[in-house]
Amino acid sequence: MKVHNFNSGPSILPESVMEQAAQAIHDFNGTGLSILEIGHRTTHFQEVLQEAINSVKQLMNLGDDHDVLFLHGGATTQFMQVPMNLLDENATAAYHVNGIWGKKAATEAALFGKVEVVADSTDKQNTYISKDFAVPRSAAYLHITSNNTVEGTQWHEFPETQVPLVADMSSDIFCRPADYKRFGLIYAGAQKNMGAAGVNMVVVRKDLLGKVNRKIPTIMDYQKHIAAGSLMNTPPVFAVYVSMLTLRWILQEGGLEEMERRNKAKSALLYQTIDSIPLFRADVAKEDRSLMNAVFFLNDPSLETAFLEACKQVNMIGVKGYRTVGGIRVSMYNALPLSSVEVICELMKDFASKHG
Ligand code: PMP
Repeated sequence: MKVHNFNSGPSILPESVMEQAAQAIHDFNGTGLSILEIGHRTTHFQEVLQEAINSVKQLMNLGDDHDVLFLHGGATTQFMQVPMNLLDENATAAYHVNGIWGKKAATEAALFGKVEVVADSTDKQNTYISKDFAVPRSAAYLHITSNNTVEGTQWHEFPETQVPLVADMSSDIFCRPADYKRFGLIYAGAQKNMGAAGVNMVVVRKDLLGKVNRKIPTIMDYQKHIAAGSLMNTPPVFAVYVSMLTLRWILQEGGLEEMERRNKAKSALLYQTIDSIPLFRADVAKEDRSLMNAVFFLNDPSLETAFLEACKQVNMIGVKGYRTVGGIRVSMYNALPLSSVEVICELMKDFASKHG
């Protein structure tokens, strides 16, 4: 029976990507070897890595100022690696904190230099994106979380800054077109819109590197990874391969314009349904609602268990809200079909007619 996968990450991937990845486990491109057993320095893998890098550059319309890296670890590694490479001990970095992941990023950065939290939306339980904030001109960079996965908010217009803009795009990477050239650094764990867990993508403007005084451990040094072409040591070969396939799929489907069109259609349907049924309530400011993660509540919390059970009955998974927020969270990443959103919307209407 069909499973409607609303997981927040690792999450749904395109069917064709899964088929090709499964095939490559048995025989990678007719080599007689599994993708799990090919060497990372073979031309076979170098072609995979190069295609992944080229696809990122094409999708984001990047030129030679930026480099694309595929590195180990989740986005959490980047919480440390970014300040290690960009923030001197006595310098200050500005952190825009509107959710738990941004908060974690700021906490890690404080281990390496000074951190100024320039925005905080806890006055309204992180249900909006703070737009009224000032960044010190001397800040090494401004860090934002482009999509707050847990709270269900998303930047729809990126801030103008005098200082380099750094973004954690783990939960909305490749969901829409934007002017990516103006970012100093973008990072994302792959396991939502880009592939399997275990690899990070980092896009970095090269001129920002090599400016801090501290000694950076080799494996943490972006410049050394650039020099080695993401092959300083054994990369997560299979995870990079799945990312390459997913990037190829995005391009074949019509690129970021098409991803945005689909994501807008899915999220508009879901938010309209929430807004039209008095049994449900979404607290996020309308202008900041995420295309990727919709967070909402049942006005009568005692009905939540019954609603979650109704979802389970029709094979919907991943709809329970994050433990600190509660309620319902429906994640609608690029690969989620509109039909799955239609099914949950019908279920919400049906549930309301029985319990309203
Ligand atoms: N940043 C954001 C926005 C996230 O959603 C997540 C994971 N859900 C992380 C960082 C942490 O990622 P990882 O588990 O890959 O370290």
